[in-house]
Amino acid sequence: MIGIKQLFLHNLAQTTRFPLALEMDRAEGCYIYDTTGKAYLDLISGISVSNVGHRHPKVVAAIKQQVDKYMHLMVYGEYVQAPQVLLAKKIADLLPQPLESVYLVNSGAEAIDGALKLAKRYTGRPEIISFNNAYHGSTHGPLSVMGSETYKRAYRPLVPGGRLLDYNIFEQLEDIGSQTAAVLVEAVQSESGYIPGAKGFLKAIQARCKAVGALMIVDEIQTGFGRTGKLFGFQHEGVVPDIVCFAKGLGGGMPIGAFVAAKKVMDVLVENPILGHITTFGGHPVSCAAALATIQVVLEEEHFKQAPVKEKLLRGLLVHPDIQQVQGMGLMLSVHLGSFERVQNVIAHCLRAGLLTDWFLFNNQSLRITPPLAITQEELTHAAQIILAAIDATRTL
Ligand code: PLP
Repeated sequence: MIGIKQLFLHNLAQTTRFPLALEMDRAEGCYIYDTTGKAYLDLISGISVSNVGHRHPKVVAAIKQQVDKYMHLMVYGEYVQAPQVLLAKKIADLLPQPLESVYLVNSGAEAIDGALKLAKRYTGRPEIISFNNAYHGSTHGPLSVMGSETYKRAYRPLVPGGRLLDYNIFEQLEDIGSQTAAVLVEAVQSESGYIPGAKGFLKAIQARCKAVGALMIVDEIQTGFGRTGKLFGFQHEGVVPDIVCFAKGLGGGMPIGAFVAAKKVMDVLVENPILGHITTFGGHPVSCAAALATIQVVLEEEHFKQAPVKEKLLRGLLVHPDIQQVQGMGLMLSVHLGSFERVQNVIAHCLRAGLLTDWFLFNNQSLRITPPLAITQEELTHAAQIILAAIDATRTL
């Protein structure tokens, strides 16, 4: 009989020739269990998704409660559905004014796509500026502003109007001009290996955008809801984005995304043409119920406030002659090991020891550390010991 692993490889579309292909059974808190019952401490969190841990009881309860009432009823924006409205209000309450109008979608790429359309529509300008090594999603819109020619080359022609600058190079911000609809930026650049914005960089972008009438879009898809030690990455800089994008950690394990703007900005979507941006499943009531519960858990448990302490602990533990650098902010850290082969060997070694780690899309020489925010200091110490042992075991003389 064909096993489920072979079916996985044959019938489920693949994205690499070497998937991890672990046969997973269940998950809880900071752990995922495979079908043999082996527990893995999760240092990936589905790439910054499970901030509140896997299957948080309050999130699970909210999902069950909503499923018992209704699931999908109608395309986005037609019916008053309490889970959508309450979630939008909650997000707006957490954001600085005037960010109060929330457009709910299904994913990060969709949030970025909607934000780009909104910026072009609001300003009437054609140009989007983004940064080299930035990742904003894989669909055509976000791909067009991605900062990697390797990933774009095979898919041209893409959406025109994109221009790339170098992240953290202040002088290049002069290129933001009168044709620029928006500058799209991350507070911590994620897929290049968790590179924090230089002090003042977001502020400088905001100032330049204001001067030329462009909008600043902040991608908080990995940084949002606590990963950097504050609820939102842009708070470290004290800026207020014109549009902010969320997904991943917002849903507590359920698919959801959002782009948020001032009401006067978002309102351009209601006419010329009407229904200019629509989605069938965006703001799915079950995902919204999960997201609302997730935000409540984030605020009640306040694990995100401990992220800087846990970062310090990890930085203190991850000291080894073969670790060239530990980069990042809060509980989004990268451990630079210098080669793809070494990273793969360390990941494989960690897996055998029951620890899930990963690499980065644009930086395959570093190990990714993005555990659920509730991970304990003991668990982090244990994880660091496994990583150090893996680095020792994969040393070649
Ligand atoms: N933006 C950032 C910073 C991301 O890390 C990702 C996904 O990894 C996205 C956007 C796209 O999100 P999604 O995979 O939900 O489309």
